[in-house]
Amino acid sequence: MSGNESGVSDSDGAAVVAAVEAVAERIEAERDYLTELDSAIGDADHGGNMARGWAAAAEAGRELDDPDPQTVCKTVGKTLMAEVGGASGPLFGGSLVFAGAELDDGVTAESAVAFAETYLEKVEDRGDARVGDQTVVDALTPAVHTFKKSVETDGLPPLDALAKAVDAAERGVAFTVPIRARKGRASYLGWRSVGHQDPGATSALYILEELLAVAADALGEEVPDVDATSPTIPDESAAEAADGDAASGDGD
Ligand code: ADP
Ligand code: MG
Repeated sequence: MSGNESGVSDSDGAAVVAAVEAVAERIEAERDYLTELDSAIGDADHGGNMARGWAAAAEAGRELDDPDPQTVCKTVGKTLMAEVGGASGPLFGGSLVFAGAELDDGVTAESAVAFAETYLEKVEDRGDARVGDQTVVDALTPAVHTFKKSVETDGLPPLDALAKAVDAAERGVAFTVPIRARKGRASYLGWRSVGHQDPGATSALYILEELLAVAADALGEEVPDVDATSPTIPDESAAEAADGDAASGDGD
């Protein structure tokens, strides 16, 4: 995380490269499982596509000389676009190119929220999918909304907010199972897509889990136990403030 007020901490770019390397390693480890998920409702290439792309992206990140976070995101995003292919290349990579611009003043809680929102917005724009379409959007939407609320409304430390976002993404992935695919290859199956976990949403969860692990590592902290982070939903302080407003109103 960025510590100085004048600009971008030198360590931020290196931390982003470390995150990309961790993601590449995780996706490689989950490659066969991701392919298995895609063979049920797609064309069995998601694990291979993502593993190849993230390995190339980690390589490209390592080759950058003393980069800032925005440059890392741009390089990694473009590499993913070029190497992943399929639907996932532009979704995961193209969105990163745009979202990375939010980190031009470094990685802070505020810039991370802006990054997350822009990333989701670009994924939605490119794929034209929304929650309930059985895509990566089903994992990203609850994660991004939870992260934003945790930082901006609940005032949680960024690491706790990220842990809550990962937890929300996990539930988003589970949500893809009982619903019907309405975008991407899986939508060709119609109702036969019901009962299957979306591969892209699953990849997004793994990426978020690795971001959390790397962020905890960079801060020298343990990965927070989500149940121990507070406040939980509903936010009591916001509810009390709303009650107070109502009480002090003119009663109409
Ligand atoms: P392809 O479908 O071209 O073979 P992949 O197998 O790599 O590409 O990726 C499939 C994943 O991409 C899906 O599981 C889904 O999460 C995501 N996806 C596909 N189409 C869309 C879309 N229109 N919007 C959002 N996500 C999509
Ligand atoms: Mg596929």
